[in-house]
Amino acid sequence: GCKSSPKLQVFQDYDNSLANSDEITRDLGPKEKESYLKVAKEHDVPKDLKKVVEDKVVEVIPDLQHMNLSIVKMAFLKDNSCGEDIVSKSFSSHSDLITGIYEGGLKVWECTFDLLAYLWDEKIQFAGKRVLDLGCGAGLLGIIALKGKAKEIHFQDYNSTVIDEVTIPNVIVNSTFECEDDEVNEPDLKRRKILNPTQELCIKCRFFSGEWYEFSKLVLSSKKAFAKYDIILTSETIYNPSYYSSFHQTLASLLDENGQVFLASKAHYFGVGGGIHLFQKYVEERNVFETSILRIIDEGLKRVLIKMAFKQTH
Ligand code: SAM
Repeated sequence: GCKSSPKLQVFQDYDNSLANSDEITRDLGPKEKESYLKVAKEHDVPKDLKKVVEDKVVEVIPDLQHMNLSIVKMAFLKDNSCGEDIVSKSFSSHSDLITGIYEGGLKVWECTFDLLAYLWDEKIQFAGKRVLDLGCGAGLLGIIALKGKAKEIHFQDYNSTVIDEVTIPNVIVNSTFECEDDEVNEPDLKRRKILNPTQELCIKCRFFSGEWYEFSKLVLSSKKAFAKYDIILTSETIYNPSYYSSFHQTLASLLDENGQVFLASKAHYFGVGGGIHLFQKYVEERNVFETSILRIIDEGLKRVLIKMAFKQTH
């Protein structure tokens, strides 16, 4: 059968700080405004999956042993203080992390863990569902949906380098773990045995980079069949109020009429100005979605999980 990836070193770059939002978004200068509507593109899953992860150090996330989630160690993440510092040592000069804006997808932000815990505790079902991990970064939320046998999972990050260097490798290392369930007596066992991880990944997952509105246009117009998402998972994506319009529009155009958005956020992002109250107010004014608070995590800086669904018109 398949062997699991080696468990070597601890991935130490979780965001445990309280509100380090200034590092992800500074005031946009004229040059940066240009790339604000960054064109979206779809990333092919590389043919040779083994090669993508062969030199990567992989670790099971220690706090989430029960979920059996792995992550590739980002060796280049030594200095978290500024995007440019991180990437200049590690990526080619073509990297969009160097030539454009970096939106924080290189590390796992703490609200991801809040949402993972909630999805696990509440046994949220993904089987047969179409799922989007919006602003995915490492992609752990989408990976949990993949493990939960979602029918289709799409991953989106602003930065193409994050998709290629972080998201895709993480999905690969986690989908090889899928094979460990082989002994379990499940009805779809046969099918899963035949499917090797490569095929499962190619069939179920799609990867996109680019700005939200551009992404929604791309996915809606793509030649491949597209049905709206049953579940959209999104963590630490509402820090900047100037993105709310595009973010809200994207949710409204891509969510199935009976779909649900699970959103995790810090209560407030100092320095950038976004946060849960401002976002909920924005949503209320648009009158498209209703929101409800699922969980409040009141350790250190307050964090909140909310659910969004389309308002029922009748
Ligand atoms: N969800 C991940 C987590 O919790 O670890 C990453 C959070 S990171 C702070 C913000 C994410 O939103 C990144 O994936 C970034 O690329 C994406 N993002 C931010 N602003 C965006 C925009 N205007 N358009 C598209 N994606 C954006």
